[in-house]
Order: sequence, then C-alpha cells, then structure tokens
Amino acid sequence: MSSSQTREGTCLCEANKFTVKGDPMSYFVCHCSNCKKQAGSAFTACVVFKDENIDLTGSQNMGQFADSKTKSGSTMIRHFCNKCGSTMLARPDQNHLPNNWIVPASLIEGHEAWTPQKEFFSENKCAFVKDLEIISTDKA
Ligand SMILES: [Zn+2]
Ligand SMILES: [Zn+2]
Repeated sequence: MSSSQTREGTCLCEANKFTVKGDPMSYFVCHCSNCKKQAGSAFTACVVFKDENIDLTGSQNMGQFADSKTKSGSTMIRHFCNKCGSTMLARPDQNHLPNNWIVPASLIEGHEAWTPQKEFFSENKCAFVKDLEIISTDKA
C-alpha cells in the first residue's frame, strides 16, 4: 500500500525541484539503448507516479526531446535539466500510459530503499550487468 509520505526530488544542480506523494506505482529497470544514451549509463532505474501525486511547480528549468525512435514505437518526451544536464522526467505517449510520469529514481530522496520489480529490454543488457534479484515489495 502507498503511504502518504512526501519526498523531494531534484536534479544535480537543484535548478529543478519537485515532490512526489506516496510510494511509486512501479519501479523498473530499462536496458534499451535510448535510455542508456540519454542517461549516459549502463541502464536506467525509473519509478512511475500518477500526475496527481507529483508536483512539478519547481521544475521550470527543463528542456525536452521528443524521442520517437523507441523500441516500443510510441513517442517518449524526455526531459533534462537545462543547467546541469541531469536526466529528468519522461512523459510517455498518452495513448500508451496516460497521466503518468516516469522519473529516474535517483532524483528522489530515499530511493535507495526501493527495489525494482521488472526489467525491460533485457536483450540489450550490457554483458557485465547481471539479472536483478527481484524482491517482493509487498511488505506494507
Ligand atoms: Zn540541474
Ligand atoms: Zn528504455
């Protein structure tokens, strides 16, 4: 069950701040090449929050890129900090996953306690990255 705890998220330079309410809808790791390129990392670890549980009032310094060459075929609007370049929120195609934001977990305080439940595009996984140990997160 989601708690009603509010957590703050920021980019590296803190020019963008936001808050999320409760626990994420889901937490996943993505190995697709687009996520890897944007994040400059071997994979991304992202959480999903519904629109009503995220306050982006303090995030007015984001640029965006419409990524249409995705493996799923739907366009993803990828945001980044205009000042420090941190990878920020992504907006999925509204026909595909409406009214949700995808947020890199690492932007959010306290994310270390969360465990991803799924992996996407494992066929693109870097050779040195092992399978996730999926632990049930049903522990209230
Ligand atoms: Zn920044
Ligand atoms: Zn991806």
